Amino acid sequence: MPGYEPFLLCDFHVHTQWSDGKLPVSEVIDLYGSTGKFDVIAITDHILMKKDVLARAGRIATLGRRAFGVREPDFEHYLANVRAEAKRALDQYGMLVIPGAEITQNRLRGRKNSHIIALDIQRYISADQSADDILREIRRQDGLSIACHPHHRPTRRIEISTCYLWDHREQLADLVDVWEAANRDDLFSVTSLKHYPYVANSDFHKPKHLYSWKTLVRAEKNWPAVRRALRENVDIALTLFRNGSWAAA
Ligand code: ZN
Ligand code: ZN
Repeated sequence: MPGYEPFLLCDFHVHTQWSDGKLPVSEVIDLYGSTGKFDVIAITDHILMKKDVLARAGRIATLGRRAFGVREPDFEHYLANVRAEAKRALDQYGMLVIPGAEITQNRLRGRKNSHIIALDIQRYISADQSADDILREIRRQDGLSIACHPHHRPTRRIEISTCYLWDHREQLADLVDVWEAANRDDLFSVTSLKHYPYVANSDFHKPKHLYSWKTLVRAEKNWPAVRRALRENVDIALTLFRNGSWAAA
């Protein structure tokens, strides 16, 4: 990113057609890659609970054509697709693509809901277990966890709150690697009051979400270095990526 060398422009929260995103993985890669700005992105499609209330409504609306989440039997195929596209992204755009998933809990009574990104995991992680167990499983797989929109307390009744991790931060702080302090257009200033590791992500679902909060990381462009930088949270900056004149191409 001109003027910000040697920072890497990163987005660690991106959805594709494997869950509820609009674009297939290849088109997401081309969209980010063709800006010529992005260094690191993570593909993080939803893994849903068996009884996810929003997905059930969605499946009815699409006559069962879409699942809205990666299912266990498809997880290997999902990872293989992301890894193949990651290789192309590196060759074609010099962009590092990290495979991951967003382990998603949407219950109508939201006190125990959490959305947890698991980066660089090797195996499927079920959403039908406690958030604590999900975090432990991410550690077991040597992945990196991100607490997504941890302070999302919606005012509209149809939305679902995802505050379990934040509400239990004292017990869980050691298990959560990084907290989202910003998600798309929202800046959760409350979460920044604690001295936790932070990150800002787009929660990309469709092309206009490219323009949203992002993270700058000062590290070498490889996953071990980026992961270390996120955990240590030194030389991290949150930045708004907007389509000004430089994005005209
Ligand atoms: Zn989420
Ligand atoms: Zn998401």
